[in-house]
Amino acid sequence: MTAVRFENFSYAYPNSDIALDNISLSIPQGSFSVITGPSGAGKTTLALAVAGVVPHYFGGRQGGSICVNGINSFQSSMGELAEHVGTVLADYESQLVAMTVAEEVAFGLETSQLSRSEITALVSQTLVKVGLAGLEECQVAGLSGGQKQRLAIASVLVMSPDILVLDEPASALDPEGAAGIYELLYDLNCQGKTVIVVEHQLARILPYASQVIVMQGGSLNFTGSLEQTLEFMWQHASLKLGVPALWTIKLRLEQETGLKFGAWKSESQAAEEINRSILTSTKGVAKSA
Ligand code: ADP
Repeated sequence: MTAVRFENFSYAYPNSDIALDNISLSIPQGSFSVITGPSGAGKTTLALAVAGVVPHYFGGRQGGSICVNGINSFQSSMGELAEHVGTVLADYESQLVAMTVAEEVAFGLETSQLSRSEITALVSQTLVKVGLAGLEECQVAGLSGGQKQRLAIASVLVMSPDILVLDEPASALDPEGAAGIYELLYDLNCQGKTVIVVEHQLARILPYASQVIVMQGGSLNFTGSLEQTLEFMWQHASLKLGVPALWTIKLRLEQETGLKFGAWKSESQAAEEINRSILTSTKGVAKSA
């Protein structure tokens, strides 16, 4: 099943040149999809198009079509689309509107048919899911950057969207905080959510990505598995710099030794594979001696 399908989608912001040019792309349901590419490539615009913010909020000119959970995006409102897609913007702090954590998560439920006690229970369950259990009465202003990001995720998660879109979700965090956010997103992905992130630091998503989408100059340059995409990027001078250091080592080693390693998702996996290949080659040397 496809969560999001772009067909020949093109878009220009009002009074601007084209930002997305003829995008055809499928994002499978339950995937962990990563949109990457250089600055100005159209990553944020593509993510906003999944959420319907483009073109519904910005206006501008568009062509082609976008289908979200089987719904024609252009014929739906942003409200209808929000039932399917939860969006955490790059500037997630601008999304936080309430004084306390509980009020923030409950905000989107105010117009629902749920009773007060049902809302309170749902808010607490959602805070547990994002690692903010027990912080209901805390002031939003007093939270750390990572906690605010988790809160922004909770406030969209509470609405039960099938698809989560996050633009650079770890941009303001230290490596530990970034890893924590991605582990949380992976947990949600394992629980069945389709996760779509904009991320230019691909080292962060090595353990999680099932599909990587490379944007360049407003066009879709490449889509494939993590392994296919990193190999493609490595072969193209303009994208090579975006290949994580671990994969630069892997692809160099493969090129220079003729060995073939698996998709390195972590340093420990890389170390294991290198160890194994050294052992195999020293056994070979011992046998032939
Ligand atoms: P990325 O996320 O890859 O850095 P963006 O999607 O932000 O790229 O931008 C793609 C193009 O659209 C760029 O040329 C950018 O200047 C332009 N753009 C982005 N936002 C707006 C806007 N609100 N109005 C006009 N042009 C915009």
